[in-house]
Amino acid sequence: MKKRLFTPGPTPVPENVMLRMAAPIIHHRNPEFMDVLKRVHENLKYLFQTSQPVVVLTCSGTGGVEATMTSLFSPGDKLICVNGGKFGERWVEMAKKFTGNCVELKVAWGKSIQPEEIIAALKAHPDTKGVYFTHSETSTGTATDVKAMAKAIRENSDALVCVDGITAVGAHEVRFDDWGLDACVTGSQKGLMMPPGLALVALSPRAVKAMETAKLPVYYFSLKKAFKAYEKDDTPFTPAVSLVIGLDESLQMIKAEGIENIWKRHQKLSAACRAGCEALGMRLFSNSPSFAVTPVWLPEGVEWKAFNKVLKGELGITVAAGQDDFLGKIFRISHLGFYDELDMLTVIGALEMTLKKINHPFEVGAGVAAVQRAFLEEGVAV
Ligand SMILES: *Cc1c(COP(=O)(O)O)cnc(C)c1O
Repeated sequence: MKKRLFTPGPTPVPENVMLRMAAPIIHHRNPEFMDVLKRVHENLKYLFQTSQPVVVLTCSGTGGVEATMTSLFSPGDKLICVNGGKFGERWVEMAKKFTGNCVELKVAWGKSIQPEEIIAALKAHPDTKGVYFTHSETSTGTATDVKAMAKAIRENSDALVCVDGITAVGAHEVRFDDWGLDACVTGSQKGLMMPPGLALVALSPRAVKAMETAKLPVYYFSLKKAFKAYEKDDTPFTPAVSLVIGLDESLQMIKAEGIENIWKRHQKLSAACRAGCEALGMRLFSNSPSFAVTPVWLPEGVEWKAFNKVLKGELGITVAAGQDDFLGKIFRISHLGFYDELDMLTVIGALEMTLKKINHPFEVGAGVAAVQRAFLEEGVAV
């Protein structure tokens, strides 16, 4: 059985990336690796649309966010953390542990936070030092207008704008410099088409300045150390050499396709995916859909276990389950990273076969036809 991954991290890894990583290991302090890292650093600036340094850390995305918190803030610093899903919840927990002063801004799952809400929170908490929020909340497939949020935060406070961009970078438009972001993080196993293991962190000059006075204890995840080493195209500790080499390959693929084309492709694939699901009578979960992942309600009377037994067990398609209260109620289809139009036909076609096999009534072919129309008919999808 051919296995196909439609999960929002890890995501499929292209063959050329795998082949680069399969080469014999090289030493990280030799010129050959420094050249790779130098190119990676340049191309990461392109990915984040920034002229500022972007550092590579050996850890998953969560480690990257932790590095920003411990490197930029001090004990007692007030952080507003937006919680609209599993990942927002994680940043609340993290802030409570590290600065010990967290204002949680709860948003219903599937809804995105509005700039007015952050403005009101900043008015109520004028001593806020940083705002953490998630661009594409993967647990709910919901996108936030980061540009508008950053503007609202900048105009109403001196708080640092800290963005979990983990399923947004390489899928949604992200303009680190133009939008006035201070910290933005992504992970290798999401839009970068890589295995897990690397976090990428962009910082603004304001954030770099904040590092000078930050007092939270930090050692391995010190961005200060990472930024110092960055200047010599180096890393403070042994990096995940093979992953950095793979990243060199995937970033070259991204550059060749063009970042704006990549944003458009994700928008198009997500729109087609939504059209396919709706044509099968399935309801969408989010009111502000992410371009990375599409959550849909399981149809009435369809049990997740039986559904997944066919989809995964018989057809080899892995989608993501719902989380927390939505386990068994929704499932999530990813189109983040190395996906194309035919992949959307595959996953919607597989959904149809699954629904048929478990005797759920619908019109066979309706979903696939909707996907085809979305791609063929100009202007329908996006
Ligand atoms: C995957 C993900 C994370 C967590 O990243 P890890 O690499 O698992 O540590 C955080 N935020 C979002 C939005 C994610 O999708």
